[in-house]
Amino acid sequence: MSHLRTFRSTGTVATASGAAVAALKTRAAAWEVPLVEDDDGLSMMVWGCELRLTRQTDSLRIDLLAPEKRLVGTLQDTATDVFAEVGLAVQWDHVNVGALAPGLSLLRVEHVVRRTPNFIRVRLRGTDAARFGTGSLHFRLLLPPQGRSPQWPRVSETGRTVWPEGEDALHRPVYTIADHGADWIDFDIFRHADSPTCTWAEADPDGQLVGVLGPGGGWCPDARRLWLFGDETALPAIVRMLQLTEADVRAVLRCAPEDLGSLADHPAVTRCDDLLAALQEVRDLDDGFVWFAASTAEARLARSDLLERGLPKGRFSAIGYWSGNDCAAG
Ligand SMILES: Cc1cc2nc3c(=O)[nH]c(=O)nc-3n(C[C@H](O)[C@H](O)[C@H](O)COP(=O)(O)OP(=O)(O)OC[C@H]3O[C@@H](n4cnc5c(N)ncnc54)[C@H](O)[C@@H]3O)c2cc1C
Repeated sequence: MSHLRTFRSTGTVATASGAAVAALKTRAAAWEVPLVEDDDGLSMMVWGCELRLTRQTDSLRIDLLAPEKRLVGTLQDTATDVFAEVGLAVQWDHVNVGALAPGLSLLRVEHVVRRTPNFIRVRLRGTDAARFGTGSLHFRLLLPPQGRSPQWPRVSETGRTVWPEGEDALHRPVYTIADHGADWIDFDIFRHADSPTCTWAEADPDGQLVGVLGPGGGWCPDARRLWLFGDETALPAIVRMLQLTEADVRAVLRCAPEDLGSLADHPAVTRCDDLLAALQEVRDLDDGFVWFAASTAEARLARSDLLERGLPKGRFSAIGYWSGNDCAAG
């Protein structure tokens, strides 16, 4: 067991039911994460954490082990959900009832500026901001409905996080941390039609409190050669990865030339009008990792293309950053 898994929580399912074991196996398969079985029970490994089930005489013990306190809470939420799906309630030794959802910080909007013609930069400040600068590149922004006092997701008695619904439901898009300091983070919003986030950002939200959940969604791939392909929504992630990587890197972006900013003069960066065509033009993928992010339809086509070309699943990621009517992928 890793020494990094230093935060713990324990609970019990009051039956040695095979249903709990089956439920954990199903979830591990659905999430494509490792499951380790031994004589006493089994463990699911996820987010650098361990969710362990140990068989006891007439019950199952659940141990949650995580490298960060917030991840124990997230795992408690997940475990409660996994077993509830098969009708089993977990008796947790401790639940932080009423606490903000694990990983949720409330940060204040310091300012909003137009960074390039099609991008808005938002700075959020708060004592808890520093933790968003490391480990993962992304976060979920939680925006309360306009004109209502914010209701934030909180931990319930069962260990599950309860989210506000109906009129209080939050808008929850995912963004990339573009820059960060000791007590602030910046993120860049691509301006597009029908966007509740753009409407919010362009309505002078200075001073407002917003929810920031995470960080999550991975880090820069570790590879000797790295190919990055992305549309406007992936531009902030590509900028971060170009800063982080030590690989022999090439990046291809589909965005307006005037939105490239400092990347316009970057020797590893080119602009294109068709990401899938640009991906197909790359012939020599032999010892590299391919990272592709755009609309879900384009990500699906990129995935099929790479698999057809024989690239193993572990050597690429093709991620849908947004979904909609996707003419570009047609
Ligand atoms: C890991 C990850 C990181 C991301 N990082 C960023 C980032 O740093 N900056 C950024 O701008 N986006 C980023 N995105 C994409 C962003 O989450 C989506 O574009 C999201 O839909 C934005 O929410 P919204 O309020 O603008 O629109 P939504 O309420 O989600 O959608 C409203 C309408 O807008 C359409 N729409 C959504 N995105 C686009 C688009 N790009 N072009 C045209 N129409 C669109 C939808 O189809 C829908 O019709 C990221 C996504 C992921 C998964």
